[in-house]
Amino acid sequence: MPRKLAAGNWKMNGTLEGLSEIAELGGLHRAPSVDILICPPATLLSPMARAAQGTSVWIGGQDCHAAASGAHTGDVSAGMLSAAGAAYVIVGHSERRTDHGEDDGNVRAKAEAAWRAGLVAIVCLGETLEERESGRALDVVARQLAGSVPDGATAANTVVAYEPVWAIGTGKVAGPTEIGEVHAAMRAALTQRFGDEGAQMRLLYGGSVKASNAAEIFAVPHVDGALVGGASLKASDFSPIVTALE
Ligand code: PEP
Repeated sequence: MPRKLAAGNWKMNGTLEGLSEIAELGGLHRAPSVDILICPPATLLSPMARAAQGTSVWIGGQDCHAAASGAHTGDVSAGMLSAAGAAYVIVGHSERRTDHGEDDGNVRAKAEAAWRAGLVAIVCLGETLEERESGRALDVVARQLAGSVPDGATAANTVVAYEPVWAIGTGKVAGPTEIGEVHAAMRAALTQRFGDEGAQMRLLYGGSVKASNAAEIFAVPHVDGALVGGASLKASDFSPIVTALE
């Protein structure tokens, strides 16, 4: 069984005052049986990595550029994230795909850049409401999985997060049947492509996960954790989700 992962994505939220949440989260989970990760905005990475020292909380970036350095104003490279104390980076979040026009090729290149910097890539994918309602969810996810996860993915360097776009930040959660169908399809595709590495790769669900629905979601086969937005900002909200995974 892969070690479970509770990952928080703070998106464009948080200032230095938020660092106290890390100390609190670490204090609540001193020796967790799951991995705990918080991905703050880039401005908070270094101070948060310092605040997390000696705790059980890992720190990650929310995005990286595919290049190691260069003329890319406003971007951050995977090596910079690593130097700031990150161990993971999210790539291909639907907000990046929508706001910045990122496609599967960009996401794949970013995941490879993450590996070169020694980071674990959390590759996000998921269908829109229109795609689900027209019966294309499984096709879309299969296409994104094939295009966004690079050759060379292993259980150690890659995590895949299924995040239906219509469930992110909306309060609408995919049901256990919908999640189970997609996660089983992803597991089958990854195992076919990567063998045992694909069978062991961690698969997260993301989309309006909170304390009240976490246990039901984590009971779905092939759900190895969650990528959590809104409910990760406060230790008091995120901690019960971590506990539900333990
Ligand atoms: C996310 O940002 O990846 C996410 C799933 O957000 P939320 O939990 O707020 O829906």
